[in-house]
Amino acid sequence: MNILLADADLCVKCGLCLPHCPTYTKTQNENESPRGRIALIQAWAGGHLDTSKKLIEHVDNCLLCRACERACPAVVPYGRLVNNFREQVSAKRRSTLAAALLKTVSQNKQAAGLAQSGLRFYQRSGLQKTARLLKLPNLLKLDRVDRLMPDYQESHALAPFYPATTAPKGTVGLFVGCMGALLDYETVNAAVTVLTAAGFNVAIPAQQGCCGALALHDGDGKTFSQLAATNCSAFADGDLDAIVTIASGCGSQLQDYQQTEFAGKVIDISEFLIQSDCDFSARLAPLTASACLHTPCSLKNVMREEQGAVKLAQQIPGIKLTQLPATTHCCGSAGSYMLDHPQMAEALLGDLLEVALAKQPAYLLSSNIGCALHITAGLRERGITLEVLHPIVLIARQLKSS
Ligand code: SF4
Ligand code: SF4
Repeated sequence: MNILLADADLCVKCGLCLPHCPTYTKTQNENESPRGRIALIQAWAGGHLDTSKKLIEHVDNCLLCRACERACPAVVPYGRLVNNFREQVSAKRRSTLAAALLKTVSQNKQAAGLAQSGLRFYQRSGLQKTARLLKLPNLLKLDRVDRLMPDYQESHALAPFYPATTAPKGTVGLFVGCMGALLDYETVNAAVTVLTAAGFNVAIPAQQGCCGALALHDGDGKTFSQLAATNCSAFADGDLDAIVTIASGCGSQLQDYQQTEFAGKVIDISEFLIQSDCDFSARLAPLTASACLHTPCSLKNVMREEQGAVKLAQQIPGIKLTQLPATTHCCGSAGSYMLDHPQMAEALLGDLLEVALAKQPAYLLSSNIGCALHITAGLRERGITLEVLHPIVLIARQLKSS
């Protein structure tokens, strides 16, 4: 309890975080604000509040987007506070079947393999179309998972090492985590293509696994610690100059690991390429199209590396790059939040799409797979055709073979 009080007591109740909070903006309810949640946790940790369903609900309604943390002048470690609270009340928390399924697939390689084969069969056999017509996913309470399923991408086993294809500058480890190759093989492939073209050898340790974010946000600190230890051991090679991530949701979690040697090497792929002075402009085919850049909360509020994606995408000759206003809130995906809190997730997505679509982009770029899946599902449900992809995929597509 003392860890909670020590963190909660840092809050001076100034309220500067309130306009940045998506759940407060939507509800105008103090209990759905960062300040309100901190006060609730503080009262509970001080023994003034029972562990009620309502208390847990208010804290669970938080997206952990950490926009409040970025805005806070008192530097309250809000993410840590909520994670620790959820761990302490984990026995009383409940998650949906869909969220439990996502956790299982992310933490178990055999389950992930089965899910991949299942996805292939589900889509290729036409079963998905029939099941949707019969509303089977709704009956099984799996409609939130079904809506997120991306089109199956044919993938190949990843090699442990890809050598640089130009004069070598160094060696990086590529973090693909649990879902990378399963749901977003094109991004994994693009990352290898661009990094090797930039002169970096790329190591992809097979031992790596889930970053642990889903477990930690669910109050399961024990599983999180095990996953963190596995990843630190997988990337223990001291020769790695950096550990590059292609999903900012994972990257933000890896940077929060207590193992500082590992955490200090973690960096978003776009930021890494920019910091390494990689200029691709002369090697990229022009693209006369407009692209709207979506900046995931994890990239902006936790990794604080959002400029990398902007600068990288701007290297494509002819591209008209637009960005969402800084006031744009979380898209609502937030790990398994979109499965457990569909109404809030949909309301936030609606706001974001309204702003993004007004720019009439040909592409929507996002550096986080969770956001990309949620946004893609929202576009599909609205009957809108707009490709959502990682900035590194656009760079790889435009890269001229030399
Ligand atoms: S969390 Fe920070 S910004 Fe929000 S009320 Fe507390 S001190 Fe102020
Ligand atoms: S993490 Fe996001 S949703 Fe949660 S209180 Fe902070 S701003 Fe609000």
